[in-house]
Amino acid sequence: MVRKKSAASTEPRSGRKEPKSKGRKSEEPKSANTLADKLERIGVRREQDLVLHLPLRYEDRTHLCPLGAVKAGQPWQVEGTVVHCDIQYRGRRQLVCLIEQGDAQLVLRFFHFYPSQHKALAPGKRVRAFGDVREGTFGLEMIHPGFQIVDVGTPLPDRLTPVYPTTAGLAQDALRKLVRRALVRDPAYLGETLPPWTREPRRLWGFAQAIAYLHDPPTDASQQALDERVHPAWTRLKFDELLAQQLSLKMHRRARSKRKAPRVPGNASLTNALRERLPFALTRAQQRVIAEIRRDLARGEPMQRLLQGDVGSGKTVVAALAALQTIESGFQVAFMAPTEILAEQHYRKLAAWLDGLPVNIAWLSGGLPAKERKKALTAITSGDAQLAVGTHALFQDVVTPPRLGLAIVDEQHRFGVVQRLALRQKGIGDAHQLMMSATPIPRTLAMSFYADLDVSVIDEMPPGRTPVATKLVSQRRRAEIIERVRKVCAEGGQVYWVCPLIEESEKLELQTAVALYAELTATLAELTVGLLHGRMKPDEKAATMAAFVRGEVNVLVATTVIEVGVDVANASMMVIEHAERFGLAQLHQLRGRVGRGADESVCVLLFEEPMSEMAKARLKVIYENSDGFEIARQDLLIRGPGEFLGARQSGVPLLRFADLERDVKLIEQARNAADELLRREPGAVQAHLERWLGGKQEFIRA
Ligand code: ADP
Ligand code: MG
Repeated sequence: MVRKKSAASTEPRSGRKEPKSKGRKSEEPKSANTLADKLERIGVRREQDLVLHLPLRYEDRTHLCPLGAVKAGQPWQVEGTVVHCDIQYRGRRQLVCLIEQGDAQLVLRFFHFYPSQHKALAPGKRVRAFGDVREGTFGLEMIHPGFQIVDVGTPLPDRLTPVYPTTAGLAQDALRKLVRRALVRDPAYLGETLPPWTREPRRLWGFAQAIAYLHDPPTDASQQALDERVHPAWTRLKFDELLAQQLSLKMHRRARSKRKAPRVPGNASLTNALRERLPFALTRAQQRVIAEIRRDLARGEPMQRLLQGDVGSGKTVVAALAALQTIESGFQVAFMAPTEILAEQHYRKLAAWLDGLPVNIAWLSGGLPAKERKKALTAITSGDAQLAVGTHALFQDVVTPPRLGLAIVDEQHRFGVVQRLALRQKGIGDAHQLMMSATPIPRTLAMSFYADLDVSVIDEMPPGRTPVATKLVSQRRRAEIIERVRKVCAEGGQVYWVCPLIEESEKLELQTAVALYAELTATLAELTVGLLHGRMKPDEKAATMAAFVRGEVNVLVATTVIEVGVDVANASMMVIEHAERFGLAQLHQLRGRVGRGADESVCVLLFEEPMSEMAKARLKVIYENSDGFEIARQDLLIRGPGEFLGARQSGVPLLRFADLERDVKLIEQARNAADELLRREPGAVQAHLERWLGGKQEFIRA
C-alpha cells in the first residue's frame, strides 16, 4: 500500500514566524505571510477549495482520561492545572509544562511553540491537552499536545475532531473555523455535479452528504473507516477527484483529435525491404504494436502513442518501421534520444539497417565539426534528409524539419510531462508522436497519468536471451570480484564496471570515476581498461565506445551515461559499485546492458554497509525480479507515485485523496464514468472540473 506523505505539517513551526529580532521583523515583506499566502501553500486558492480541504485524520476528544490513568503508547485527552511552565535547553530549545490533577502529574513538552502559547500556560491555569503519551526520562510525558485553557466544566465535544493539513502560522483552530465558514457560505459550494445516472448505479454518496460527513463525522462514525479512507464518504470524494483527472486528460485528447496531422499510410516499399533484411523474426508483440502504430499513422489526426517495453524488448525496430512508413509517404522523421551516445547508437543501427535503401539519414550531433554540422542542418532544413537523428535538445533548440511527419522520442521516461507538452508545442507541432519508454509504468499509473496518450506494450522478449544472474556482494569481497573480471576477460568476455553515483556533485563523481579507472588499470594490468563519463567530448566518448564495441577494450569503467540503450552483445558481466545508491529503475536499466548475447551473463551489485532500510528493500527487489513491470510496481510501493513519475516537476498535481495502489477499481470506474459523462451530459463536465481543478488552470490547459 502506498501511504501518501503530507507535505504540510499539522503543527506550528517556530522557525518562520518567530522573529529573530525586532528589527528583522519590520524588514520582512508583509505579503509573504498573509492568510491568503498561507492558504495558497496548502492548495487553497478560492474559498470553495476549503470545502475540499479534507481532514488528514481525526482525534477522539469526546472523553477525558484521569491524569493518573494514562499509559504510554497512545493518544489521550487529559485535564490538569499548570504547576510551572518554562523554556529549557536540553539539546534543543523546548517548552516544558508540568500539570497536575490530584496526586498525578504529567509533563507537556513542545519543541515548536509560539510565545503566546508559553504565556497562556501560566501556573494555576486549567489546561485540557490532547496528544501522544510516551515514557520520558522523568516519567510519562505528552509530546506536542494540542491544548486549550478551560474552566471547570467546559463541555467536551460530542463528535470526532478533524485534523487538517496545514502550514506554518496557520493553527488548526483557525483553519477549522475557516472550513466551517466555507461550508455554510454558499450552497453552490456543495452542489451536486454528478447526474443521478452516474451516481446511483455505483452507489455513490451525494456530494454534500459526503462532505458534511468528512468534515464533521457523526457521533457513531467509525474512526477506523475514516482514517483508512475506506468509508463511503471517502469513496465519493476519491471518485470525484479521479473523475476530474480523467475528464481533463480526455479533453486534451479530444482537442488533439480535432487537429490535423499528415496522413502517412506509406506504400510498404521501404518497410518490406527492412523486414526482409532483418536478421531475426519479429516477435508477436512487436507485430501487434507495429500494426497499432501503422493504423494511427494512416489517420489524419496526430498520433500520441507511448510504446512501452522492457529493456531489450526490441523497441528500436518498431520505431524504424514507423519511420519508414512515414518516409514512404514523403514526410520527414525526427528520431530523438536523450543522450549523444544513445543518439549515435541509433544512428549507426539505422544506417546499417537502411544501407542501400533510398533513405537519406542526417546525424546531428552536438560534437560535429562546424562544416559537417552545417551540412547536416542544411540537409534537414532543405528536406533532403528524410530521417534526422539527434538529441532532444537539438530538435528543440536548433532545427525543425520542415516536412515533419513523425517525431520519435526515445526513453521518454527521462522527461517529465512538461517536456512532453513542450515538445508538442515547439517544432513538433501537429506531427505524429511516438514516445518510447523502457520504464514500464504499472497499469494503474498508466491509466491514470497517461489517459491522454494511447499506450502500446511489448510484453514479450525476443527469443534466445539468457537471463542475467544477479549477485549481491559486499565491498569487503571486492578482491574476489576483480579476480572474476580477470577470468571473464581471459575467456574473451567483456565487462562494464559502473562508477558510484554521486548525485550531489558531478565533480566528485568524475573524480571517483577517474580513481576507479586508475585502480582497475593497475590491478588488471594485463587488460585494456577504458573510461567513459559525461564530461568527455562527444568524439572521445564515441571513440571509447567504439573501441569497446570492437572488443579492443576489455573493461569499460563508466558512469551512468551508459544507462540507456547501449548495446554490446559480447559484454557478459557488469559490476555496479555502491549499488545501494542507485534507484530501482536505474539498476534495472543498467543490468539490461548485459545479457544481450547468448552467453550466460552476470550482474554484480557491490554494496557498502551500513545501508538504509530503503536501500536494502531496493536491492532485494532487484535481486529477486527480472521483469521490469514487477520492478516498477515494487518501486511504486517503496517510493510512492509522486516520485515515481517525477510528478513534482511535471506540473501534474498529485492525487490528494485517491491511492493508486488501493483504488484501482475506482480508477477504472472513474475512467468509464468520464466517457459516459462526455458523451451523455457534457454540460455536467464543466462544473465538475471547475470544482476540482478550477484553481489550477494549468492542469486543464496543459
Ligand atoms: P530496447 O527495447 O531496449 O530499445 P532494442 O531495440 O535496442 O531494445 O533491441 C535490443 C536488441 O534486440 C537489439 O540488438 C535488436 O536488434 C534485437 N532485437 C530486436 N527485436 C528482435 C527480435 N524479434 N528477435 C531477436 N532480436 C531482436
Ligand atoms: Mg532502446
